[in-house]
Amino acid sequence: MSRPAIYLDHNAASPLRPEARAALLAALDLTGNASSVHAHGRALRDMIETGRRAVAALAGAEPKQVVFTGSATEAITQAIVGGAKAFASGAIALSAGEHAAVLKAAEATGLPRWTIPLDTDGRIDLDQLAALLRRADDEGVTLLVALHWVNNETGVVQDMGRINALVGPTRHTLFIDAVQACGKLPLDFAASAPDMMAISGHKIGAAAGIGALLVKAHADTVRLIPGGGQEQGRRGGTESVGLIAAFGAAASACRYDVDAMRALTQKVEDGLRAMAPDVLIFGEKAERAGNVVNFAVPGVGNATAMMGLDLMGLSVSSGSACSSGKVGASHVLLAMGVPRDLADCALRVSFGWNSTAADAEAFLDGYEKVLSRQKRDGKAA
Ligand code: PLP
Repeated sequence: MSRPAIYLDHNAASPLRPEARAALLAALDLTGNASSVHAHGRALRDMIETGRRAVAALAGAEPKQVVFTGSATEAITQAIVGGAKAFASGAIALSAGEHAAVLKAAEATGLPRWTIPLDTDGRIDLDQLAALLRRADDEGVTLLVALHWVNNETGVVQDMGRINALVGPTRHTLFIDAVQACGKLPLDFAASAPDMMAISGHKIGAAAGIGALLVKAHADTVRLIPGGGQEQGRRGGTESVGLIAAFGAAASACRYDVDAMRALTQKVEDGLRAMAPDVLIFGEKAERAGNVVNFAVPGVGNATAMMGLDLMGLSVSSGSACSSGKVGASHVLLAMGVPRDLADCALRVSFGWNSTAADAEAFLDGYEKVLSRQKRDGKAA
């Protein structure tokens, strides 16, 4: 199968950076197990620790706070399922806009879920968070608060300063899903309030299959996979040295140029407004990470649009794909009060480290064709 010509889905997975590929291949050529004390093992151990330092630097964490996992989903599950047990939480407070990895982990704990709504621009209602913290104190409940920093569908940036200020001084545990913030915003794990954070390799140009749980010493009792005691007993299983090395190399190479990203998303938004004045851009009034446009043109269904764009070699997303590959209405948009028929028209275009203005133009050309086809077919019907 030929490769799609233009990739506009960096929030799903960002292409492998050349630095990450080189590090991965170099590690794959080595023999041994990083737990062995002989020279072969030590060479692999060195690679892991180099990767750990690079990932820690990107996350503003200390190397000892980084626990490598097989994905961010695993790190999130460790934080939430492990954390709920370790901290004897009585309930989980989470927003209606969390990723499925957070929602399903919360469900798996069996604890009551206290859901915080989103506003119409996708911001978490932090007054509601404050109210839930008061309620927890009134009812004597210990909370595990699990919130995202940057939304994967809309790119909306949550007010981490206020979240830190609200939860930091309390006895409650704070977990932040920083998967879409990592590499885009400065992360300051060691110096900020969260007890735990999750990040993912393939969102920053390392291969899929590697993530990390960032965890502070006082919270470092969270265990999900004890196994053979790797990662200082914090996550068992022989380390995938190549993927860790690739994660480290991608972390070192990560320079997010927010202005360059905004130039691309601005071009797309201006172009969409020119061709479809009734277009809705979700999260428009909120602060956004700058690389995502999530929009809907009323009456232009996303399943048909995505198919049409795919045939033109343009890979975009509806923002919400179920595992079956079918397109479903986004729970994030629904939580923002977007009517279902409009949510069914939502498309997400997301740029990243190798995106160019030509990619944005190609998308606009492609989408214009989708619109004119829709008009023609609509008239013919
Ligand atoms: N959290 C967010 C916000 C995400 O965007 C994703 C991936 O799409 C995940 C968690 C899960 O990451 P991973 O694919 O590494 O398990």
